[in-house]
Amino acid sequence: MQRVASIAAMQRLARQWQRAGRRIGLVPTMGCLHAGHLSLVKRARQATGKDGVVVVSIYVNPTQFGPNEDFSKYPRDLKRDLKLCRDAGVDVVFTPRDQEMYPRWGEATDEPAREDAHPASFSTYVVEEKLSRTMEGASRPDHFRGVTTVVAKLFHLVLPDVAVFGAKDWQQATIIRRMVADLNFPVRILVAPTLRERDGLAMSSRNKYLTGGLRAQATVLWCSIQVARATIKKLKIFPAAKMKAAVKKLVECEPDARLDYVEFFDPDTLLPVSKVKRGTHLALALFIGKTRLIDNARL
Ligand code: AMP
Repeated sequence: MQRVASIAAMQRLARQWQRAGRRIGLVPTMGCLHAGHLSLVKRARQATGKDGVVVVSIYVNPTQFGPNEDFSKYPRDLKRDLKLCRDAGVDVVFTPRDQEMYPRWGEATDEPAREDAHPASFSTYVVEEKLSRTMEGASRPDHFRGVTTVVAKLFHLVLPDVAVFGAKDWQQATIIRRMVADLNFPVRILVAPTLRERDGLAMSSRNKYLTGGLRAQATVLWCSIQVARATIKKLKIFPAAKMKAAVKKLVECEPDARLDYVEFFDPDTLLPVSKVKRGTHLALALFIGKTRLIDNARL
């Protein structure tokens, strides 16, 4: 396994692979890897075949964090990540630097740069304008602009035939699919299922923040999904407003939990529905203490 940090070296390698006719699979991550990430690696390997190459990018992208979010505190453990990637049969781990991704950022500070502090050397963003407005986009302004921009950059640098994203971030995966279609990126997007802990909590790098009694309270995300599923199984159709109220009530039973949003929507268009039925998608975000967690599922 090779670690590549330089953008020029990554592009050179990708071009070589392309010329040699090798299929390239990319798994973009922010590191602090867990079994969920590794399931995407496996999916990428399946899709590229034994002559293909699998690249995992590890980059905590400053432009997708808001000013009061956890960019500087986001868990980082590159040594462990490299070992996990090696054991998973990854060919290249790509770890670009802030200075190259966003020239001048990350030089003096590890705080994310703000809009007014953007250097003159970076002013081009990729913005998806419809699907990005609701849910995560409403709660985290500019988040998806950072995501689409960095993913577009990674596609240019790694030249993947296939890129794998997790259903854990359903809205993100849907926006990436739209970006790829709208901008004609020659890449196939695969969306792999969410891996969960035994008690249903979706695996996430941020679960590390859940100390003491907070970890147990976090199962309320999975409970909410289960309750919604059971309701639809029994009643077939149910008003979204009532279901939202029920989820809110469930979340409020946990002393340190606060609901940010819960939404019921069409899984492709992300448009909210007023009646929930089988096939409707549920997504929710909540704070457990200071940690913001998200989850989603098809009902
Ligand atoms: P992150 O490092 O959190 O940016 O995630 C990198 C990729 O892994 C994204 O496509 C996520 O959707 C995906 N991912 C994160 N958690 C899980 C999980 N529990 N199961 C499957 N995929 C996941």
